[in-house]
Amino acid sequence: MRATNLYAPTLRNTPAEAEIASHQLMYRAGLIRKSAGGMYSYLPLAWRTIRKIEQIIREEMDAAGGQEIMMPILQPSELWEESGRWGAYGAEMIRVKDRHDREFCMGPTHEEMITALVRDELRSYKQLPVLLYQIQDKFRDERRPRFGVMRSREFIMKDLYSFDKDVEGMNESYRKMSVAYTNIFTRCGLDFRAVEADSGAIGGGHSEEFTVLAPEGESRIACCDACSYAASDEKAALRPIDAPDEAELPLEKVVTPHTSTIALLAEYLKIPVEKTIKAVAYQTEDDTLILAFLRGDHEVNEIKLANAVPGARELRMAEEEAIRAVGGCPGFMSPIGIKEGTHIVVDETAMRMHNAVSGANEADYHYINVNPQRDFGAVTVADIRLVEEGDECPVCENGHLHIGRGIEAGQIFALGTKYSAAMGATFLDETGKAQPLQMGCYGIGVGRTMAAAIEQNHDESGIIWPRAIAPYEVVVVAVNAKVEEQLRYAEEIYEELRAAGVDVLLDDRRERAGVKFNDCDLIGYPVRIAIGPKTIENGSIEVKVRRTGELVNFARDTYLKGVQ
Ligand code: ATP
Ligand code: MG
Ligand code: MG
Ligand code: MG
Repeated sequence: MRATNLYAPTLRNTPAEAEIASHQLMYRAGLIRKSAGGMYSYLPLAWRTIRKIEQIIREEMDAAGGQEIMMPILQPSELWEESGRWGAYGAEMIRVKDRHDREFCMGPTHEEMITALVRDELRSYKQLPVLLYQIQDKFRDERRPRFGVMRSREFIMKDLYSFDKDVEGMNESYRKMSVAYTNIFTRCGLDFRAVEADSGAIGGGHSEEFTVLAPEGESRIACCDACSYAASDEKAALRPIDAPDEAELPLEKVVTPHTSTIALLAEYLKIPVEKTIKAVAYQTEDDTLILAFLRGDHEVNEIKLANAVPGARELRMAEEEAIRAVGGCPGFMSPIGIKEGTHIVVDETAMRMHNAVSGANEADYHYINVNPQRDFGAVTVADIRLVEEGDECPVCENGHLHIGRGIEAGQIFALGTKYSAAMGATFLDETGKAQPLQMGCYGIGVGRTMAAAIEQNHDESGIIWPRAIAPYEVVVVAVNAKVEEQLRYAEEIYEELRAAGVDVLLDDRRERAGVKFNDCDLIGYPVRIAIGPKTIENGSIEVKVRRTGELVNFARDTYLKGVQ
């Protein structure tokens, strides 16, 4: 490829909305352009990187036994009714109607679609395990799209789904995917941690996030300095509680036995809760009991429950009324990611400090260190620090937790039978008995991985691509392309590198040397070879390593080794 033909419009300035380095650099280096809020086009350089990341993903998915397929983007509402998520998924789901008024969504994820795909034909234990994946655009109407392709509304995801005959099989598929994910992010040249995670809206049991370390990342993670424990802050703050016997607890200590009722209350009161991950109930000075929803990025919706001294009785009544109002029954399990039987129990410390109650989205667990702000406005920010630097490690109890930040580039889930049971996807086991399939699902954000690579690898001059995912590995620059001799010499080197299988770009533009060198640094090719009068005169090749800035001179006949 020659730079004179390359469509890579570089810029000096960045749009004001680009808050973090990766977003700014993707604009300036001519990688992406915005079409509407949270929607982007990938230009040629970015697309080459995307294709390289996808290729690494494909190789690792195939090596782990995955088979690539492609499912429709539009998904009929009926499938989501079956799993119970049509009503529960919330505003993040983009819904559309066809000309016959039938309802569809633009796939935010594909558990329902793939379960329906296999349920009629995956009938025997002899066919299992089966691992199917696709690399496709997903749609999520994010409340706050930002950071360019890092959190966009249309984005590329690799999603794999595993089907096994028993829990051991599912765990084995999960383990294989965990290894494959480790290989993928290692091959992409990224510094990352696999951390235990909450399974959130997807549901199910065990889950890990693959977090690319970066100070500006949205995820907070906690790693122990004495053992290998690492978890997302939310997961690290979960502590088991002794399942309380409600009858024995003092009344004011049981606020609600089911966080699912929080979702129902939200629905009843028409509060747009997309994913309720935390809720606190607290008592104000004038004894109003308030239930507050703390959402993904810490916005708060609050509901005044009763103008009375708080107690289980009042709340129970409010709950039951709300449940009846939406046609539900107490104990109804909301698939928003809130598990049945979850207890919201007074956190003694928080109670003392803030009159607050913290509830976890996991049965028989509660959160530590929840710090709700006391004087909420209508919508304000709560200061939530689930785990803090130096907290004792919940696993080894020896070490201390260190807090870091990063970007969630992938997540894997052991789902169990959540979708197969709800959607009747069964197989016949060895004894001829029908059993629900044991499932797992495994996602990687392809565009987000690219953005995370830039966020982690850049300096004030531009991007520093890890070699495996650079749009081009080497750029050959004719310092003054107007000089015939320089251009010809550069072309020779370019052809030699191509013949040797190096992914190379020739910068043959008739621009000033300074402009071209700046673009090389901005776009971030790992290796730059400059051909100028001096190099030609003494028959050498000057190689610049982008990451270190190091300049190395090679003789004309040995430079290839140096580049490779
Ligand atoms: P987040 O917590 O950042 O909202 P998520 O947990 O909702 O992400 P998953 O459902 O786990 O995302 O999807 C799998 C992967 O898809 C994520 O790990 C991430 O890399 C990617 N992804 C999710 N949402 C977006 C988005 N809005 N833009 C780009 N990539 C995304
Ligand atoms: Mg999300
Ligand atoms: Mg997440
Ligand atoms: Mg996730």
